[in-house]
Amino acid sequence: MSTAGDRTEENETTRSCVTELVCQKCDVKLPITDMEAFCPTCGKCLDVAYDYDLAASRLRELPMSERPENIWRLSELLPIRGSHAQAQVGQFSGLTPLIPANRLGAELGLRKLYVKDDSTCRPSLSYKDRVVATAIARLLELGKSEIGCVSTGNVGTAVASLAAKAGVTPYVFYPNRLEQTKARACRALGARVCQVSGNYDEANRECRKVAAASGLEFANITLRPFYAEGAKTMAFEIVEQLGWNAPDHIVSATAGGTLSSRLHKGLVELETVGLAQTKSTKMHIAQPDGCSPIASAIIAHESEIHPCTPTTAAHSLAIGSPGDGYLVIEAVRSRGGSAASASDEEIFAGIDLLAVTEGILTEPAGGTTVAVLKKLAEAGELDPDAVVVAIITGNGLKTLDDHPPKPWPSMVECDSESMLSVLSDFQHEQAASAAQPLPA
Ligand SMILES: *Cc1c(COP(=O)(O)O)cnc(C)c1O
Ligand SMILES: [Zn+2]
Repeated sequence: MSTAGDRTEENETTRSCVTELVCQKCDVKLPITDMEAFCPTCGKCLDVAYDYDLAASRLRELPMSERPENIWRLSELLPIRGSHAQAQVGQFSGLTPLIPANRLGAELGLRKLYVKDDSTCRPSLSYKDRVVATAIARLLELGKSEIGCVSTGNVGTAVASLAAKAGVTPYVFYPNRLEQTKARACRALGARVCQVSGNYDEANRECRKVAAASGLEFANITLRPFYAEGAKTMAFEIVEQLGWNAPDHIVSATAGGTLSSRLHKGLVELETVGLAQTKSTKMHIAQPDGCSPIASAIIAHESEIHPCTPTTAAHSLAIGSPGDGYLVIEAVRSRGGSAASASDEEIFAGIDLLAVTEGILTEPAGGTTVAVLKKLAEAGELDPDAVVVAIITGNGLKTLDDHPPKPWPSMVECDSESMLSVLSDFQHEQAASAAQPLPA
């Protein structure tokens, strides 16, 4: 999007203050035009660096009221320089609501609880729209017209949807276990879908080879530094939505670690450019019991992550060998916080609790966040007056077929008398359950 006040000769470039790619581990630097995603020396994923002095001044030049209401809002701190690329993807992604969760908060004894609701993110109803949008923008900058991805579920639907709108051909590689609705949604959106018999970590390993051998760009492999940057927009939005105040606590579900580590990076950047004071925000990491390599390392005070073979109903979180895991550990250690895991039963109870208190239907990843939030609140880790943001990363409509079945009433005659009798049963049940606490 070209913004008001742009001079004609600037229309080709965005406000991005990106400078170069740097290795997260060994400080190798590469020009931003380089096509590598991984450090040629040590193999770690490359990170994107910025000129923060320039960003600080550019951020002041253009008031928030004149900025786009999408992920490109603070494009100074995003890695896309081609305004053409930025205009073609993500125009309706991001800026999801930060909802005061007063009913869930009352249940948990938290007076200032908010839900950052990415279950409504456009176009594909998960946080992955943010990261895939920046990856596809990079792809367009490179002048390419095909994109691949390996997905635990939501990357695939985001790639299918955003690629279609950008006029790019999507190829989606899915592991053996995922919510089938997500694969079907990809097909319905016109993507070519290849389901492979391994788990996510195995599919990811092979997709790296596919990328190398075919030259196909993969949103979350070869474009990974650009993909990851999209997750910072979540931090930017939360702080802006709180009136440029950082929350005391953020609770977020973690799989590969991209979201949690880039929430941290985004918070650090807001402080660096002088937009907000963010140092006191603590990060809490939620994982399922059946796949908690990052949480386990944090709990055990270890800096090494032991990969695991996932067994969890939270398929979006089933990454046993998390690429950005060590960054998450650093984030939690450096700013304080905690990690915890939840059983499948607790995860589905978390989905129910969010549903009946806030009217938000989330998938098991969101259920994991709510389950861990509940544990933290009950353990007294969160002050009742602290500002707490729970991030709900995905929509339950895509996973409903995989939730444990609830008893379904039999059909009654279509006459008001039968219906009145059912209504009266409902009201009795409701009165009885109102006397009970909400789902545990
Ligand atoms: C991918 C995903 C996550 C975790 O994201 P990472 O960045 O891999 O840690 C959380 N929730 C949902 C719904 C997801 O699809
Ligand atoms: Zn390196």
